[in-house]
Amino acid sequence: MSRTFDIISKVGDEQAFRQEIRDWLAVTLDPEWRRKWQLAREEDLKPLVFAWLETRRKVGLATPHWPKEWGGPGLPFAYQIMVYEELARADAPELDLFTISLFHTPATLFEHGTQEQKDRYLGGITHGTDIWCQGFSEPGAGSDLAALRTAAVKNGDHYVVNGQKIWSSGAINAQYCLLLARTDPNGKRKHDGISYFIMDMKSPGVEVRPIRQITGESEFAEIFMDDVKIPVENLIGAEGNGWNIAQSTLSTERGLLIFGAVERLARSFELERRDARETWMRDVQLRREYAAFYAELQSVRLMIRQLLIELEANPDKASPTLPTYIKLTWGPFLQRYSEFLVRAEGLDAQKWQPSIPGTGFSSRLRMNDFLRSYGWTIAGGSNEIMRNIISERILGLPRG
Ligand SMILES: Cc1cc2nc3c(=O)[nH]c(=O)nc-3n(C[C@H](O)[C@H](O)[C@H](O)COP(=O)(O)OP(=O)(O)OC[C@H]3O[C@@H](n4cnc5c(N)ncnc54)[C@H](O)[C@@H]3O)c2cc1C
Repeated sequence: MSRTFDIISKVGDEQAFRQEIRDWLAVTLDPEWRRKWQLAREEDLKPLVFAWLETRRKVGLATPHWPKEWGGPGLPFAYQIMVYEELARADAPELDLFTISLFHTPATLFEHGTQEQKDRYLGGITHGTDIWCQGFSEPGAGSDLAALRTAAVKNGDHYVVNGQKIWSSGAINAQYCLLLARTDPNGKRKHDGISYFIMDMKSPGVEVRPIRQITGESEFAEIFMDDVKIPVENLIGAEGNGWNIAQSTLSTERGLLIFGAVERLARSFELERRDARETWMRDVQLRREYAAFYAELQSVRLMIRQLLIELEANPDKASPTLPTYIKLTWGPFLQRYSEFLVRAEGLDAQKWQPSIPGTGFSSRLRMNDFLRSYGWTIAGGSNEIMRNIISERILGLPRG
């Protein structure tokens, strides 16, 4: 008879909680998932990802960071961390398709959505029917996001939207988009007059064009909007307050998301040590480099743990600068380490292979991990912008 699992009831006993997750993963996780997800293309992949979300939902782990009232288990922060640690250690797949849906959308709606918006949209996420994307960046408005030009003009019970978005992750599969558009072009500062909308991607006038990446795949897309009608009830918060609301959306990137990726890489490190013992590990120089990378990884982990401890104690008092340092350290580290593995493994590591969705930067396909690592120094604010923040807000240097 198959065993039933009650992970959430173990809250209060850390050991038992972790053990229950491990036991559940041991019988639930398909050991062949990497191969299956790698071979599945486009339409075939979605059912696999949906099924994994549903499997997690049944034991309360689809949305471990959501409060009870919105269908989450209401786990204390320390337990959320344990969930992500255990998932990473067991090499369970990440729910990449749902990153915006599970993190950015709730971070926005919990704080700024109306009751109707929460009721209408959050259920579609927990039940794995709705994929969301984020339509912030535009050509000419990436680092300088507040320069965005997509226009939304109110006309009775709806807004008429015209403009273009770019680099929108997952837009090809998305039902809804978190959209920033300018409702008032005459604001005092460029940050004024921006409003925040929920856009139905099936609306007439929305066109999505995939962008081909350096890996040959298309994880993000351009979105063109031509007289798209968005009903007024899809405005989030007050008209003109979009810039402030966008900060809630972006704040989600500073904690658990990066934590999961780093823990996953820590697991890969262990595997390299085992698998390369008889090959490149025998080279003393490469072994030294590997050890230095390991020390660096531990320092990133320590910084993240410090941030998580601060966030748990009091999110309003957590260091505003630590996420900037973490991002600035992690991106270049990922690039150098993945480049090292390409170098250490020689010609074999250089062949292209289809990527494995759900593995983050730990697919262990050397060339793919290396090429994709560059995104980290750009997404969510480029490294140059992070350095500007440090120089201006932390060191107090004059603005350039
Ligand atoms: C993997 C990935 C996923 C993404 N997903 C999304 C998404 O889902 N939705 C979305 O809206 N956007 C997304 N983006 C876009 C991302 O937010 C932008 O790429 C980023 O903000 C940089 O903007 P940009 O590409 O326009 O570059 P630009 O702003 O044009 O910058 C070009 C170069 O100039 C430098 N630069 C710019 N301004 C300054 C300055 N003031 N001082 C010093 N240097 C400067 C930058 O550092 C960079 O090197 C994603 C990007 C990546 C890589």
